Amino acid sequence: MSAPVPTKIRLSEDRKAMLITWSDGLECSYPMPLLRKNCPCATCITDREEKGAFYIPLFTADALRLENVRQQGRYAIQLTWGDGHHTGIYDFPYLRRLCPELQDAASERQDNSEAES
Ligand SMILES: [Zn+2]
Repeated sequence: MSAPVPTKIRLSEDRKAMLITWSDGLECSYPMPLLRKNCPCATCITDREEKGAFYIPLFTADALRLENVRQQGRYAIQLTWGDGHHTGIYDFPYLRRLCPELQDAASERQDNSEAES
């Protein structure tokens, strides 16, 4: 089976989340702070490393306003934010890992397997 890819990307009605429908039917809702906090560009990664695991970034409203989503080839999307930040390229496997719905499902599966054994 090939790795799932987004078939539909859109903003939630309140524009506070980006919604992705995947080719395997999974629907993920990414809150803007989650996406911005996990920006995979070199600048943001360095910034996070310097500040350490307990650093909680504070973003302005501009920094959390998603202005544009651009497809990068067949493997990633590039996000442009209201403060002009646009170097974050989120590849599809990375987006899958960030998916809050998938993380909920994983912890549920864990609970089930514990109950069975
Ligand atoms: Zn960044």
